Amino acid sequence: MTEISILPEFLINKIAAGEVIERPASIVRELLDNSIDAGAKNVSVEVLYGGKKLIRVADDGVGMSREDASLCFERHATSKIKTEGDLFNISTLGFRGEALSSLTSVSKVTLITSTANSHTGTKIEIGLPTLPTGRQADKAGAGEKKEISDAPPLAGTIIEVRDLFYNTPARRKFFKSTSTELSHIIEVVIQKALSYPGISFSLKHNNSELVNAVSAKDIRERFKQLYGEELFNEFFEINPIRQNISNGVKLYGFVSTGNFTRSTRSYQFVFVNRRPVKNPTVSHAVYSAYRDLIPKDRHPAFFLFLEIAPGKVDVNVHPAKREVRFETPSEIHKLVELAVQEALHPQQYKTAGDIPASMPAYEAAHTAENVSFGEQSVCETLESTFQSAGGLQTDFFSERITPAVRKYFHIGESFVAESANNGLTIIDQHAAHERVLYEKFLRKTSIVAETLFLPIRTELSAREYNIVIKHSDFLKDLGLDVEDFGANNVIVRTMPKELCKADIKGLLIDIASGIIEEETTGIRGDTGKQGLLETIAARLACHKSVRGSEPLNNEELSQLAADLEKCEVPDKCPHGRPTRIFISLDDLNRMFKRK
Ligand code: ADP
Ligand code: MG
Repeated sequence: MTEISILPEFLINKIAAGEVIERPASIVRELLDNSIDAGAKNVSVEVLYGGKKLIRVADDGVGMSREDASLCFERHATSKIKTEGDLFNISTLGFRGEALSSLTSVSKVTLITSTANSHTGTKIEIGLPTLPTGRQADKAGAGEKKEISDAPPLAGTIIEVRDLFYNTPARRKFFKSTSTELSHIIEVVIQKALSYPGISFSLKHNNSELVNAVSAKDIRERFKQLYGEELFNEFFEINPIRQNISNGVKLYGFVSTGNFTRSTRSYQFVFVNRRPVKNPTVSHAVYSAYRDLIPKDRHPAFFLFLEIAPGKVDVNVHPAKREVRFETPSEIHKLVELAVQEALHPQQYKTAGDIPASMPAYEAAHTAENVSFGEQSVCETLESTFQSAGGLQTDFFSERITPAVRKYFHIGESFVAESANNGLTIIDQHAAHERVLYEKFLRKTSIVAETLFLPIRTELSAREYNIVIKHSDFLKDLGLDVEDFGANNVIVRTMPKELCKADIKGLLIDIASGIIEEETTGIRGDTGKQGLLETIAARLACHKSVRGSEPLNNEELSQLAADLEKCEVPDKCPHGRPTRIFISLDDLNRMFKRK
C-alpha cells in the first residue's frame, strides 16, 4: 500500500490561496494591482464588514475579452509574462497568474468586464449560491462551477468577492475585528494611492467614504490629499533631481523632521518600483542617517520610493511580494543614507553649493526658519488662555500631599541621585515618570480629564481616524474626549491633565498604531480589553515623558520618588528599562576594595 498520493487540484489551489490570501486586505491588494496593471485611471473599492462580507473593486482599465475573461480564473493564467526572460524583467505588479484562481477557491466571485470596443460585456459568476457548502463543497471543488452571461459593454472591470473563507471555517477563525481588517485595507489603499499619484482611488466601508484621492499631479499633492497639509509640514523632501544621477537608481520621497518621531515603526513606507516592501537595507540606511538626531526608543517616519531597472532587483522572492532582493545592496544603502542625510541637514549641503537652484519649492522647505517647525503643543497654544481663565493646573504634582522634601543631585539631563538608606539611589526621571503615569492610567481611578478651553480639531489619516473614532469610549475613560468631526477630522475636548504638554496629533497617531498593533498581534486578541488598556496606557505615559524634559526641583523629585514607591512595579518603566538603581554602602565598599 502506498502512503504517497498526488493532491487533488482543488486542494492544491487552496494551499496556493493560503500563500496569496492571508486576509481581506490581501484581496484588495491583488485586485488593485490588477486594476493598475490594466492601465486604470479611476479605481474604486467598496467593502462591507472589513471586507469579510464583500470586497468590490471597479476600474476603467483595458478590460477583458470574453475569451480572456473565461481564462483568467485558471491557475497560472496571466497576460503579463510569456518567457523565462520576462521573469527577470518584470514591469507589472502581477505576473504569477495566481490571484484570481486563489480567490475562487476561498470565496464567491463575480466578474463583469468589457474591452473598450466590444459590443457586449461578460459576466462570470463562480461559487455562487447553488454550490453545496461544507465538506461536500470541498470535494466538489468549490469554485469549479462557472456561469458565463452577457453584461453591458462598460469599458473596464468590476470584481466582487463575497464571503471570504466561507468554505474554509478554520481560516475564518483567524479574522480579526472588522475595524482591524478595515485598517489593513485602508493601509493597502493608501499604499497604492501613494505609489500611483496619477490614479484616482476611493474607498468606501459600509457605505461611508474613507478615502477619496482624486488624480494628483505628483506625490507631493497626493501626500497632502491623504495626510493633510499639517502633517506634510513635518517632513523634508528628498531632492529627486540629485538622487536621479546615481547609477540608474532614482530615489524620491519624504523623511520626517527630527521633531516628528514616533513610538513605533508605523509611519515607515518603502516602495521599490512602486511595490510596498519591507527591506532591511533601506531601513538600516535611514536609521543611520538619523543616528544622532532622535532618541534611541523613537522612530523616524518616512516615505521612500526607489526606482531601479527591473533587471537589478528581484521581486520574485516572497509569496505576497512583500520583499525584494537588490543586485547591489551596499550601493543602495549608500544612496539612501546620503539622500536622507541631505534632506535632514540641508544647510550643510546648501553651503557646499550642491543643491540645484532650479528647485525653489525644495529650497523653501529647507530654510533654517522652517527646520524646527512641528505641531505646537496644546499648552503653547492654549496655556496663556487657560491661565488667564484660571482653569489650568499643569503641575503634575499639584493635587498630592507633598512628602518630606529630600535632596537630589542632577547628573546630566535624565538622572538624579540621592544619598539615603545607607547607599546611593540613582533615578532615571523619565523612566520613573513613565512608570507612575502608566500605573495611573491602568488604574483609571485618579485620572483628571481637563476640559480644553478651546477644543482642538486635528486631521488624521483615514486609517487612524477610523480606529480612534471606533475606540472613543475607551479613550474617554482615560480622560481623552475625542469626537468625530467627519472627513478624517476629530475634535479633542478633554485631555488627561498630565498630558497637557503632549502634541495631540502625535498622541492620537501613537494611540491608533498601538490599537492596531494590539489587535493584530496582541496575545489576548480582540476581546482582551486589558491588553488594549496596557498598550494605550504605555503610549500615553511615554508621551508625557518624552515631551516633558524640564528639570524637576527637589520638591517635585521627592514626590516622584514617593509616587514611584507606591507603584506595583516600581523598578521598571513600561518598556522594561530600569527606573532606579540602588548602590548600597556594602557595594561601594566592595567596589573600592575595602571588603
Ligand atoms: P496576474 O496579475 O499575476 O497576471 P491574476 O490572477 O491577478 O494574475 O490575473 C490574471 C489575468 O487576468 C491578468 O494577467 C490579466 O490579464 C487579467 N486581469 C485581471 N484583472 C484584470 C483587470 N482588472 N482588468 C483587466 N484584466 C485583468
Ligand atoms: Mg494579479
